[in-house]
Amino acid sequence: MPLSPLEITYSQLLDFRRCRLRWYWMYQKNLLPIVEREYYAFGRAIHHGLCQYYLHGHDIEVAQTAFSEEWNKYKEKLMEVNYYIDSDDEWLNKSSAMGLHMLEDYHFLAKNADKFEVIMAEERLKFSIGIVQGREVFLAGTPDMVVKDNKFYWLKEFKSTTNMNDTDWVELDEQASIYQFLAQMKLLVPIHGTFYSWLNKSLPKEPKILENGKMSKDKSQPVSAVDIAKKIEEFGLDHHEYKDFMEVMRSKYVVRTRVHRSPTEITNVVKRSLQIAQDMVNPEIYCSPTWNCHWECEYYKMCVAYQDEADLEPIEKAYFKVGEVTW
Ligand code: SF4
Repeated sequence: MPLSPLEITYSQLLDFRRCRLRWYWMYQKNLLPIVEREYYAFGRAIHHGLCQYYLHGHDIEVAQTAFSEEWNKYKEKLMEVNYYIDSDDEWLNKSSAMGLHMLEDYHFLAKNADKFEVIMAEERLKFSIGIVQGREVFLAGTPDMVVKDNKFYWLKEFKSTTNMNDTDWVELDEQASIYQFLAQMKLLVPIHGTFYSWLNKSLPKEPKILENGKMSKDKSQPVSAVDIAKKIEEFGLDHHEYKDFMEVMRSKYVVRTRVHRSPTEITNVVKRSLQIAQDMVNPEIYCSPTWNCHWECEYYKMCVAYQDEADLEPIEKAYFKVGEVTW
């Protein structure tokens, strides 16, 4: 009988290297937290809104509706598993307002700046990369989008972040390299690199209007370009006077960067994935505790009990369900 194939994603590769125990619980025992973390659900809703935005010709209303529908599913999920109380509405609504505003800020830039064709969006891709100990290994993932400008094909990835100054790490973004490989195999064209869009995960304040009726140009204000434009309109201000201010503030809420990836980089990420897959077949399982486990890992409670060789079953039943990772 042929051995079952091994399907690996970027998240799985990351988890395996981060902590084998965590990987074992998540991908081998299929134990998933009953309640998904808020930032995963929020990120998914934003990504979905942005993909729909492009698929419907830069339609901000479609984007915001798609975001809201996805975000509301998170509330429904909380209710379904009895993790919701009325006061949760306060932070759920705040996150909702933030998401809608992030999309508006994005639209403010993208409506005029984007000159590319959408080739593919939110499509699950999967390709065989080799055989390890008799098991066929597939690399899989769902890139946000593939687009084409007048010269090249690009992977287009959205990132929501609370730190807009920390974007240099994408030079080594392994997820994008894997997605680039998958997109190349699907479309049979070279993908030149990754075109990142960074969205500031924060809710800006209203721009301040001074006593003389003009708008404050204080750049330390947490205000975004779209609200500045609204104030210019509302108070009949001179657009030219605020052009530089608007440009500076826009870059605090939406930034774009492009990273080229060479064919060698792509080949190497596939090779590395296969090497890690080799270790995933009959692996030794051990944990790798670090200072940030308590906020980074959903299995923290389980892990504390595991260290003490205590009975894990009550914790499993209370906080986890059996299911397949879909990301
Ligand atoms: S809490 Fe830390 S050591 Fe324990 S499973 Fe999670 S990542 Fe591993």
